[in-house]
Amino acid sequence: MKYEPVIGLEIHIELATKSKMFCSCSADYFGAKPNTHTCPICLGLPGAMPKANNEAIKFTQKFGSAIGCKLLLSSKFDRKNYFYPDLAKGFQVSQYDLPFSEEGFLQIKAENGDLKKVRISRAHLEEDTGKLTHATINNRRVTLVDFNRSGVPLMEIVSEPDVESAQEAKLYAQKIRQTARYMGISDADMEKGSMRIEPNISLREMGTKTLPSYKVELKNINSFKFAEKAIDYEIKRQTEILNKGEVPAQETRGFNEQKGITVSQRSKEFAHDYRYFPEPDLPPLHFTERQSEKIKNELPELPDEKYQRFIKKFNLGVYDAEILTREQKVAEYFEEAAKAGGKAQISTKVIANFIINQKPNIEKFLPADLVSQIYRKTQKTYIPDDELEEIVKKVLGENKKAVEDYKKGKDAALQVLVGAVMGESKGNIDPQKAKAMLENLLTH
Ligand SMILES: [Zn+2]
Repeated sequence: MKYEPVIGLEIHIELATKSKMFCSCSADYFGAKPNTHTCPICLGLPGAMPKANNEAIKFTQKFGSAIGCKLLLSSKFDRKNYFYPDLAKGFQVSQYDLPFSEEGFLQIKAENGDLKKVRISRAHLEEDTGKLTHATINNRRVTLVDFNRSGVPLMEIVSEPDVESAQEAKLYAQKIRQTARYMGISDADMEKGSMRIEPNISLREMGTKTLPSYKVELKNINSFKFAEKAIDYEIKRQTEILNKGEVPAQETRGFNEQKGITVSQRSKEFAHDYRYFPEPDLPPLHFTERQSEKIKNELPELPDEKYQRFIKKFNLGVYDAEILTREQKVAEYFEEAAKAGGKAQISTKVIANFIINQKPNIEKFLPADLVSQIYRKTQKTYIPDDELEEIVKKVLGENKKAVEDYKKGKDAALQVLVGAVMGESKGNIDPQKAKAMLENLLTH
């Protein structure tokens, strides 16, 4: 029997707001001493009243809009009841039937270049839980609870079961991270735990369309590589069970990184086990069409848009455009370098190659410095100074209008002259040098 995987993903992203979701504690807790970012609200003490963080709501709506979701005009928070030591209140404030956004999609590009749409059912907002650490103290196994993370805004993005392989799952998760970073709403760093992936996997007979009767959810995966490995392992494990004529159990499994296998953690709860009901301490929220439109109109350029523009505007190949737009900072760096390089007649392709292959430290190395360096490395012939002076004089003679403009104080005219010198010398001259000589001759 041949099977095909049916994979859906739940991705949690901690939002980079200043304060937590329902209290004024700082949400920037990474590396802080345990239980120092807490108050009666995020410790769930009786009588404490929560207040929703507007910035977190905005961030979720912004992200929802970026992935093509419709923003709901009426929304609310609900209590999701379950008992676990990392949840002080005995319930988590989440969103059940009225999330902030629903019905979107993301496009991923498979290795063969095919574009594939992964539908997204919703992006909603909830609060993060505390963190448990298992340790041995005085020869006793104990569990320690740190509530610094408790109540940090957590956005959950739920996909439809459109993903069909471990590799597609990885690409989808990377696209979510990229989009969150582009929106400036999270660093979505898996190592720090600010992004977490929970794939659910089942198999169905090849060619059938119905969803399988069971689902295995994988938890606590902290890298894209492990997500890929864990899914591949699950596909193999479930295939073996199905081949024996059995049905895999509906359960939650964890990934053992050392052994590269998944292990059973607990049998999966069904939604009704959580006894969801509207959070009585938080009023329902209402928005207008105009507010939704405004959020949509104010979105920054999305990764796909930037990618398309880079191909068109800078004449880049798909591979280069893909790499350069992966991180917004790198994309901006390239754009600045391309602008500076244009004046020195260095092609965008050369600049793109340099950034991709040499990976300059973009925090320290200015785009203009990069262009100068490329210039020095790529120019084979140099024009001697006396020859350059001839060229500059010729250009000044032929561009009377620009010379006049410059003398009237129009600095832009100098760029025209530099461009003309670069053209006349066929690019065999450092534009800075051309500029200096032009300025010298123009002021004497
Ligand atoms: Zn607090």
